[in-house]
Amino acid sequence: SAKKLIAANWKMNGSRALVEAVVQQLTNLSPEVDVLLCPPATLLPLFPASQHYALGAQNVSEHEQGAYTGELDVTLITETGATYVLVGHSERRQYHGESDQLICLKLQQAVNGGLTPVLCIGETLTERQQENTEQVIAKQLAAVYASHPELLAKSVVAYEPVWAIGTGESATPEQAQAAHAFIRQQLAQYDAAGAAKVRILYGGSVNATNCSALFAQPDINGALVGGASLKPSEFMQICQSAK
Ligand code: 13P
Repeated sequence: SAKKLIAANWKMNGSRALVEAVVQQLTNLSPEVDVLLCPPATLLPLFPASQHYALGAQNVSEHEQGAYTGELDVTLITETGATYVLVGHSERRQYHGESDQLICLKLQQAVNGGLTPVLCIGETLTERQQENTEQVIAKQLAAVYASHPELLAKSVVAYEPVWAIGTGESATPEQAQAAHAFIRQQLAQYDAAGAAKVRILYGGSVNATNCSALFAQPDINGALVGGASLKPSEFMQICQSAK
């Protein structure tokens, strides 16, 4: 199947020094894996253009240029050299009130401006305990692709169960595979060919120890890595495990 994509989400972490350390590590990367780095937007211009990685922002405005203090539109992001953007990360949904409707607008804006969106979805612990995982995921996907099925072929999807983010408690390979298979099946109703091809990343406490078993699952096409992406050698190990 397609090459795996290993994405780093630095969140509100990093520094000039970390940019240099990661760039240095990735010069030895095998071309059999695609790597995406999503640092804070202020660090994006510090990365030299490279065939070893692509760059992405962590958020994008739903608007185009104008009086939106503190926001970044697709053009500003593109000018940094970034070609991807994370959309709808659970931290944006939780702490910045991003609704499914807003996330759909951001995804449209990204695709129209030529950025590849990484749509992040996933259930909370309560939702899983109440056995609502599939219902929650289906709703998050429908909010975007039911009305805009043409966006699927341009998207990456990341399944990030909220209870696994930053907790050290990854989903098991079986739990993640079940969710990914369900996501692909849901997406098939909007665009069957797109659903077969779309890369579905797993995110939530991925590290150098647990990544191989996750990557062995048929519907897991890569990872979205938070904490472990801030450790250059561990991130490199995760990338190499995805060959
Ligand atoms: P952790 O890898 O730190 O759990 O974070 C996952 C995540 O939210 C990536 O977007």
